[in-house]
Amino acid sequence: MPIYEYTTSGGGCEYCEVSFELFQGINDEALETCPCCDEPVRKLISGFMVGKGDPLRPSNLDSKGFTQYKRMGKGYYEKTAGPGPNAIADGGS
Ligand SMILES: [Zn+2]
Repeated sequence: MPIYEYTTSGGGCEYCEVSFELFQGINDEALETCPCCDEPVRKLISGFMVGKGDPLRPSNLDSKGFTQYKRMGKGYYEKTAGPGPNAIADGGS
């Protein structure tokens, strides 16, 4: 069952002002208005989404065993998430 994410272009109610997700059958009509406040909504994502949120969020990376680094300077990277070393430096060039 695909999850569709909707949001309003402005205004809206507590339910739709950020965005909300809806399970819909593949042949269901796209929602055109918020079921709560009747503000027009637009579809953000369609497809077979698994889970929610940004898959590259540091906490997600960490839980999947990835290590994320932020570039701190020339050839030097500091860890922002994950199980790897706290910093890496590519001492070369
Ligand atoms: Zn609403």
